[in-house]
Amino acid sequence: MHKKLFIPGPTEVAPEVLAKLATPMIGHRSKDASKMQKEISEKLQKVMYTENPILLSTSSGSGLMEGSIRSLTAKRAVVFSVGAFGNRWYKMAEVNNIPADKHEAKWGEPTTPEIVDQYLSTGKYDVFTITHNETSTGIMNPLAEIAEVRKKYPDVMWLVDSVSALSGAKVEVDKLGIDVCITSTQKALALPPGMAICSISRKALEHGKQVKHRGWYLDLLEIYKYIETKDHQYHATPSLPHMFALNFQLDRILAEGLDNRFARHKEMAEFTRAWAKKHFALFPVEKYASQTLTTITNTRNINVANLNSELAKVGLQISNGYGDLKEKTFRIAHMGELTLKDVKEVTAAIESILKL
Ligand SMILES: *Cc1c(COP(=O)(O)O)cnc(C)c1O
Repeated sequence: MHKKLFIPGPTEVAPEVLAKLATPMIGHRSKDASKMQKEISEKLQKVMYTENPILLSTSSGSGLMEGSIRSLTAKRAVVFSVGAFGNRWYKMAEVNNIPADKHEAKWGEPTTPEIVDQYLSTGKYDVFTITHNETSTGIMNPLAEIAEVRKKYPDVMWLVDSVSALSGAKVEVDKLGIDVCITSTQKALALPPGMAICSISRKALEHGKQVKHRGWYLDLLEIYKYIETKDHQYHATPSLPHMFALNFQLDRILAEGLDNRFARHKEMAEFTRAWAKKHFALFPVEKYASQTLTTITNTRNINVANLNSELAKVGLQISNGYGDLKEKTFRIAHMGELTLKDVKEVTAAIESILKL
């Protein structure tokens, strides 16, 4: 039996989107491939509120996290971490021999504009990274407030991991001034895993030229070069099945209407938070609680793994806590194709299993 996924990726994929993965192949150097890349880019520019070029990478979201910090750090990067995915970004810098510092907030708390200001004002950095939506703790960072502070440091490249939020929450890339905004297919965009997506500013494309060793497969400048000079193609064979499905899914997303889509996510988040507070407690500071998933503190000391086994019997699946937060928290994702009705179904099932 298929289990309906309330996990923060992979998420539910609509059957008609899944079917697009089985589209007969075309050559990746064909005019049709170029046309498809252009269409996908134009649609993603709408979803991301940007005029910046869009890059696709056949990797999961981590690919472009690693690619961006490696391609763009000429001097030193500072990684603002609020949990597991921020820590991953710092690790990527370390293992690539990229000079970097990390500021890690207490888990459950956001990155504040004050702390960003404090680090950037030292003048030591040419790159800083922010996790928009931390999937371990359920924190959604205040991008607009961070953008205000960042205006003082326009030459420091701003990289944002919006992997688990984009299209479920509004990210106005150009208005915020984000240089690289990363997402991937298997979260709120509701496609199978396998492709990462980012926007990249002209400023970042220039800045990266100073970096000598950018790698090749995940070098953002190399990827862009092919788009610019080879009529919207890729330096290596991209996952064409994902591109067929993504092109189609973006039509569905734009047909729903972006504001409607964000409102649907907000509605699910508000319901889930209220439910969590009634029966358990919220893990993140409520003001910064995510719009795409809710991390819940296991105040009743339930066995989360057992709960999930019981949920499986009725065709549902939630997520245990991430890493050290396993069993101490659990997570209900409400993103992508899910609706309030689905969230009500899973919370009711939990109430019935736990006899709440
Ligand atoms: C899922 C996710 C990623 C990417 O993880 P992959 O394992 O590469 O799919 C990055 N950042 C956040 C916040 C995520 O939720």
